[in-house]
Amino acid sequence: MADRKKVIEIIRAIGVRMEECKDELTQLDQPIGDSDHGINMARGFHAVNQKLEQLADQDIGAMIKSVGMTLVSTVGGASGPLYGSAYMKAGMTLAGKTEMNQADFLEMMRAATEAVMQRGKAVAGEATMLDAMLPALKAMEAAAAAGKTTKEMLADGVTAAWAGTEHTKDLIATKGRASYVGERGLGHQDPGATSFSYMLAVIAEAYC
Ligand code: ADP
Ligand code: MG
Repeated sequence: MADRKKVIEIIRAIGVRMEECKDELTQLDQPIGDSDHGINMARGFHAVNQKLEQLADQDIGAMIKSVGMTLVSTVGGASGPLYGSAYMKAGMTLAGKTEMNQADFLEMMRAATEAVMQRGKAVAGEATMLDAMLPALKAMEAAAAAGKTTKEMLADGVTAAWAGTEHTKDLIATKGRASYVGERGLGHQDPGATSFSYMLAVIAEAYC
């Protein structure tokens, strides 16, 4: 269960993690992209953080939607509109709520994943952030169906996200900049899958 204060705390913690893994994400983007993924994510969440105080009295849906709008307007790369739509669509599922439970969290994650699929016109196996998001969602749905707690469900999601991220090394990218390098991208881990896994890990650590 997360209330508004917890959601703000998590968003702030995601910003801290993006800053911490900025160089790693940027380095991952070097061989298969244009070396900016860490810079993009850190810049986007820096802007998000500056607006957080103003969001304190809004409902959770409005808070998360606002994160998405800020990401779209401050991040130029592919990840801006992709994560931006993910957060905007995620926020829409929580409209009017001041608390989020396990079912709400899953619905939000489903909407976020669908938003990336729609916006990026991508499916599983194209070496994108979806190769972390889709297995994470599947693992969390299975955990919830098995009656696990939210904390346990999130832990399963994080494990699946990192496994999916690792698997992007074996995939030839067919979407985004990484598709330009074709087979030369083999052996390289997708930066977007990595940033998503870090985000979910932050949520799992903070959620109770
Ligand atoms: P850019 O590629 O414009 O430089 P970033 O480097 O910030 O933007 O983000 C790259 C990441 O975005 C990739 O690692 C991948 O995970 C994700 N990505 C790119 N294109 C798509 C797409 N069409 N669908 C889903 N994810 C994508
Ligand atoms: Mg890039």
